[in-house]
Order: sequence, then C-alpha cells, then structure tokens
Amino acid sequence: MKADRQFGEELDVMDQKNSEDTGLNRREFIKGAVAGSAALATGLPQILEAEKAAPSSRPYAELRSLPPGAIKPEGWVRLHMEGQARLASALPEISYPFFKGTFWEGEENSPAWFTWEQKAYWVDGATRLALVLGDEALLVKARASLDYTLSHPSSNGFLGPKFLEFGDDFGGLNRWPNTVLNRGFMALADAQPTPDKVDPEKIAESLQKHYLNDQASYISGTRNITNLEVILWCYERTRDRKLLEMAQKTWDQYMKDAEDEVAAAARAATNGTVGRRRFSMHADLARSAVFADTPIQSHGVSYAEISKLPAILYLYTGREDYRKFVVAAQRRIFDHHMLIDGIPSSSEGYAGTTALDEHETCDITDHAWAWTYVLQATGEGVWGDHIERACFNAHAGVTRTDWKGFQYFGSPNQFLANLNCDHGTERWFGSRRLAYQPNPAQLIGCCGGNGHRFFPNYVLSMWMQTKDNGMAATLYGPSTVTAKVGSANQNVQITQRTNYPFEEEILFEIKADHPISFPLSLRIPAWCNAPHIKVNGVSVGSVLPRNGFAILRRTFKSGDVVTLNLPMNVKSTEWPNNGIGIERGPLVYALPIETKWTSVAEAAYSSEDFPTWEANPLGEWNYGIALDPANVTSQVEVKQKHYEQNLETSAWLWSDAPTILTVPARKLEGWGYETNPKEPHQRFTPHLPDPGSLKVSDQVERLTLVPFGATQLRMSIFPKLNG
Ligand SMILES: [Zn+2]
Repeated sequence: MKADRQFGEELDVMDQKNSEDTGLNRREFIKGAVAGSAALATGLPQILEAEKAAPSSRPYAELRSLPPGAIKPEGWVRLHMEGQARLASALPEISYPFFKGTFWEGEENSPAWFTWEQKAYWVDGATRLALVLGDEALLVKARASLDYTLSHPSSNGFLGPKFLEFGDDFGGLNRWPNTVLNRGFMALADAQPTPDKVDPEKIAESLQKHYLNDQASYISGTRNITNLEVILWCYERTRDRKLLEMAQKTWDQYMKDAEDEVAAAARAATNGTVGRRRFSMHADLARSAVFADTPIQSHGVSYAEISKLPAILYLYTGREDYRKFVVAAQRRIFDHHMLIDGIPSSSEGYAGTTALDEHETCDITDHAWAWTYVLQATGEGVWGDHIERACFNAHAGVTRTDWKGFQYFGSPNQFLANLNCDHGTERWFGSRRLAYQPNPAQLIGCCGGNGHRFFPNYVLSMWMQTKDNGMAATLYGPSTVTAKVGSANQNVQITQRTNYPFEEEILFEIKADHPISFPLSLRIPAWCNAPHIKVNGVSVGSVLPRNGFAILRRTFKSGDVVTLNLPMNVKSTEWPNNGIGIERGPLVYALPIETKWTSVAEAAYSSEDFPTWEANPLGEWNYGIALDPANVTSQVEVKQKHYEQNLETSAWLWSDAPTILTVPARKLEGWGYETNPKEPHQRFTPHLPDPGSLKVSDQVERLTLVPFGATQLRMSIFPKLNG
C-alpha cells in the first residue's frame, strides 16, 4: 500500500481528447467525414498556426520520431540486423542486373521505371541499416547512388536520370522512383551525428529546388503523389512555405479527382460503356469509399504509401480532417484484408483473409512504415501494437533465420516454398514467388531492396519524443536510446533490457549526469489486460493506460530501473473456412513443418554465397486443433525457458524460441497436397478441408507450436475441430 501511495500519483495518462478524436468507432468515422469537409472549407488559417509554431518541427505531432543514430539496437535485435546487413551488403554483387547496374549512378538505359525503383529501395534500406548499426562499410556502398545523384543535378535542378526527368516507359512523367530514393536522402541528412562529408542543408536545398522546379504533375501518375512525404520533410528543413502549400493543394486536388473517378465509374457502369477497372487510378482513396469502410480495390503498396500522406500533412498543419481520413483509410485494411500475421493480403492487390491468401514483402515494409506516421499523428499506442505484430510475425515469417534469403509472397499456411509452388491467384499460380531468395524476384525485384527497409525503420520508431519533452517507449525490444528531455533539454540514456517478445518483462535502465524530471511513457499493448510497473523494485500500483500509454512523471536519476511486465495470455482466433489460429501476446503461433532445404546458384537471381533456397516438407501437417474455444487457456500449455542477454553466448531466439505452446490436436486422414492436373508432380499447399469430408482420428495428440516468425514452412490457420 505504501508503494501505491509513493508512486501511484506519478502514473498519468495521455490526453484523453485524442482517443475521442481518433478512436476507431463507426460514429466517429462518420463525424470525421463531416468535420473534414468543414476544415477543408476553412483551409489556410490552420497553416498559419503551424507557421507560428516554428521553429518546433512537426508542431502537431503527438509523438515525434528521433534521428537515425539516436536508437541503438541491442540483443536479438542487433543480431537480426547484423545478419540482414550481410545480405544487404552482398546484394549489389549478386548478378541480378538491376542491383548490379549503375542505376542512380549515371545509367540512362533501362527497360522500365521499376529498375530505378528497386535499386532505390535498396539504397534507402541499406542507408538506414548502416546508420542504425553504425556499419561504415555498408554506408559507403549505400551512399554511392545518393552522392552521385546529389552531385549531378540537371540544369533544372532535377535529381535523377533523364529517363525519369523527361518520361518513362508509360509515356508519362513517373516520379515514384524519386520518392523511394529521396527517403534515403532524408535518413542521411537527419542522421546524428552527421556522417562524414554529408551536408544536410545542401541535401534539403537540392530537394527544394528539385521539387519547386519540376514540371511533373504530382496529382496524376499512379504514385507521383507519394513525393508529398519528401516535400513535407523538405518544408520542415527549409521552412519554405511554398512546399507546404504545394503539398496541401496537391492532396486536396487528388481527393477531388478521386471522387470524380468514382462518379465517372458510376456513370460508365450505368451506361454500360466501360467495364470495371481492376485497380482505381487513385488507389481507391475517394473520401466516399474511405468513410464508407468498403473493401479496397487497389494495389497494396500504392494504398499504403498514399493513404499515409494525410498523417504527415497533419504533423505540419494540425488539420483534423487529415487525421480522420488516415485513420479511416487504415480501418478498411483491418476490417477487410488483415491476415493473421499482421499484414493484409496483397498479391499484389488486396484480397481475402484465408489461410492461403498472401502478402507481398514490400507490403510488410510499406504498411508498417505508414503506421509509424499514424502513430506520430494520433499518439495512439495501438499503432505500435500493429507494427510489432507485423514485425514479429509477417516480417520474421518471410525471412530465413540466417538472413540468407526471404520471400516475395508469404502466406499464413505454406507447406511448400519452392520454385513452382505459389498457390496464390491465377496470375501468379505456380510461380517462384514463395521460394526463399536473396533477391526474391521474377523480373521485378522490388522486395529484394524494400525488404531491407523494414527492420531499420522498426528500430527508428522504438522510441519517440512526446509533446511535453518526455520520452515514449513505442515499440519494444532490446535497445538503447539517447535523447534530450525535460524543460532544460538534458541528455538521458535509457536501455531496454529484455527478450521481448519471447518474454514478458522489460527493464528500462536510466543513465543521466544529473537528476532529470521528465514524463516517461510506456506503451501498454491492447492485448495486455494486467500490465504491471515497478520503479526500483517498488510497484506503482494499478496501471490504467489511456491512448495505449501509461506515463511515469517523476525525477529520474542515474541507475533508476523501471520494470514493465506485460503478461501474455493465450487466445484463439477464427478465420474463414472453419479456420482457427492461436496467439499469445504479440506472437502468432504456428506448426513448424520439418523441412528439406536445397539451394542453387542461379545466374540471374543469386550467387554461390547467397543461393536461391527451396523448402520442401518432410514432416506431417495434416492435423486439426481440437479446442473448446471457451476454455482455451486451460487446454494450451505454455513452455518457457529464459535466455541471458549476452550477444556472444545467447542462442538465436528466432530459431530456438524461448516460448513454445502445446495444443490438443487430431489427425485428419485424407487431407493431402493439391496438385496441378497438367503437371501431377507440381504440388501446392491445400485449402482448409471440409471437416465433414475427412476421417478425424479418435486419438488426441499434443502438437508443439512455435512463434510464426520462427517458421518457414508452417500451418498457422488450422482446421477447427470440436474440443
Ligand atoms: Zn515487392
């Protein structure tokens, strides 16, 4: 009781107004649409408010991300990234021409725009990876394209090849590859300390000239509008109000055009003149569709990249209609397309939510990146929950644990991952997209570069600054952050010691030269209903998070230790076709299928050191889970062991996870692989069976499940049998 009195009043909550403004209930979405129109009509006064707030950057951000270099990965996070850095470093040497070529380094001949996109993905990812790890050799490689491009502007200031400046293979002015590359400039200029021979002001001024002189329309073109992300970064750096006005006008016109497209499509359907397009020209982002919460008719990457833009606009303008829009746009993803591993089906358009729906690896990176902006705009911890879920399940689940390869498409159930087993849509059926490859490609190799953006961006968002000069732990994992806090902007260092998400306890060790008073916000995931916090071993009493955070307001001194405990409960989830999934905390669990790995060095795609990997199943998988859904906790057994945090000696957590589960299951006779009638030897992961058509064993066995992210061949959505 003494403990409660001592620290209880220190626990605070984040501003409740936020949760009322951006909460995920339907009435609020409808209200949002109305409020949005009103704010659009009033427009500019809110820009002026942002101007007054200078020099504070992103004045309306509820949470503000830190520069590359402020957060250092430790423990399993560092091990994971070091494996990734070895592959990222090798990629330009692997023979796939679009990495080996001198794209963004003087090359002008190209078969298509996507060559520039995929090299740029790699440049941005490798730059961020190098900055986060402090890997100077990788930074030299990654910077070659950035340094060349910056030092070779056209007479107009355009940064990039003439191939893009004056047109592309589709005849328009395609500016999407510029967005992808320019994010590398953003990371390089923001990095602390500033790397050798980097001039952040020159980068910002060069981009300012590039955008203000460019003759391209940022409203037309499939993804030209994505440049708003860089334009707004450039506004923050240069304070050139023309950039902010350009971004707002472009977005507002894009919204109008998107609505016009919907109206034109409705007229055409009525007249019977035009069939339905597969994808909307405006990524299906018309306000009417977004606030009606309809299923999305769009390419996943386009939607993720464009739908996030109002969150960034909000950071600089505080226009509430922007924030309402972005939350509503994300809601459609969760309501209609979300797969069990935390990323929506996207092969390459959004699809269903079955055990066999797939997502492109680019979509893992791009959706999580989008949510980092939503987190900053809303200050709601639930966006951290979403990013973690994507990280620990979808991202880890498409990656070999040794970082020797990853997939183009990944799926909740994948019993095979070879060069001809893609069970996805007709378009990709039988393709190589499920195989694990250093550069997962089949002509287009976007994921090979983009896959390297995910994890550095995760680390860059693990900590954020709060509006009141405090720190927020936004994503968990072993790491150390250094930042300025409190009214006097004093340095503090906070180290997270933890094996999370494999364990429930996270220690925060504070280091500071002098005692500092600042608010420390700890994200309380929505899945956790009994969080517990101690300061120097003494409980702070009951924790009542608001907006997904608990806040400790106190004077911290060097050596203070805050302990956060996030008890993880087991639960089951339901999926189409009588499917059931098992989760515990942020981790989805899966049946790992014993695998025979074979590798081949393919001239076009891989090398001797980084070959193409095929995974074929040796083990059995034909089981259903026999659980009583009302009584899951007592029927699922949790087995845990503890690893010491020691980089030299600790086992690799993803290949030997400390927490495993056992569940009651029964064998299903007659459930086998599906085959290609024209090629009987070509096998595919089967659909979930109709339980009535199979013989269910009388014998109950205990199946061992491991974290989804620890598996390459797996079943994570099981046939549901009676308990
Ligand atoms: Zn891709």
